[in-house]
Amino acid sequence: MRQKIVAGNWKMNKTLEEGNILASEIAGMVADEVKGDAKVIFCVPFPYLLPIKNQLGNNNRIAIGAQNCSEHESGAYTGEVSAPMLKSIGIPYVILGHSERRQYFGEDGKLLAKKVDVALKHGLIPIYCCGEPLEVRESNGHEALVKKQVEESLFHLSGDVIKTIVIAYEPVWAIGTGKTASAQQAQDMHAVIRKHIAAKYGQSVADAVAILYGGSVNAANAKELFACPDVDGGLVGGASLKSREFTEVIKGA
Ligand code: PGA
Repeated sequence: MRQKIVAGNWKMNKTLEEGNILASEIAGMVADEVKGDAKVIFCVPFPYLLPIKNQLGNNNRIAIGAQNCSEHESGAYTGEVSAPMLKSIGIPYVILGHSERRQYFGEDGKLLAKKVDVALKHGLIPIYCCGEPLEVRESNGHEALVKKQVEESLFHLSGDVIKTIVIAYEPVWAIGTGKTASAQQAQDMHAVIRKHIAAKYGQSVADAVAILYGGSVNAANAKELFACPDVDGGLVGGASLKSREFTEVIKGA
C-alpha cells in the first residue's frame, strides 16, 4: 500500500512570524490528534525553509518542501534558487510545474523535464504538477493533455526513478476557486495517469507512484477524495494556511 501524503502549498503567503505560528500549531495538532501515518509536507516560501525546518526539529511526521527550483545548478542567474542549494539546507521535496508557474512564468514541459532532472540529481523528490485548464476539460481534451504533461517531463526517467516521484493532479479550474473536482473526476484522472505509467513502465512501477489530488481540497471534502483508490493524498493551497482546517484535511488521509 502506498503511504498517503498531504502537502500544504503556502504559495506566496504569510510573514515569517505568521508561518512559525502556523507550523507550530499544525505540528502540535498532528502530534496530539492525527492517528494515521500520512506524511505531511509544508511547501513554504524560500526564506522560510530553514527557519521552519529548524523550528520543527526532528519531527518525523512533517517534512519541508520548496515550491520551485532553477533548472540550472549554479551560476549567473540572479534571483534564482538551485536544487543543490535546497539540498545543502536539508530540504527533501520540491514542487515543480505548478500551474501558476506554467501560467505566469511560462514554464513548459521541456523546461520542467530539466528541473525534474536537476532536482533528482541532487537527491530532491519532485512533486510534479499537471492538470488541465477549464476550456480543455470542456472540450474533452483533459485526459490527452494530462498524459502529455506527464510524458514530456517524466517519461525520459527510468522505472526505478519515476517510482520515487510524487505526481500532483491539479485541474486548473479547481485551484483557488472553491470548485473541487468530484471524487469521481479525481479518481478517473488518477487512474488514467497510473494506466499511462503502467503502459510504459509496467504495473508494479505504476503502483508505486504517489499521485496527489489538488484543487480546493478542504476539511469537508478531503476524506472522500482521499478514499479513492488511486488518490494518494493531496496538494493543498488555501486550506493549508489555517491550522485547524489543514489538520482536518490531514485526518482525512
Ligand atoms: P487550492 O490550491 O487548494 O487553494 O485550490 C491548490 C494548489 O494550487 O496547489
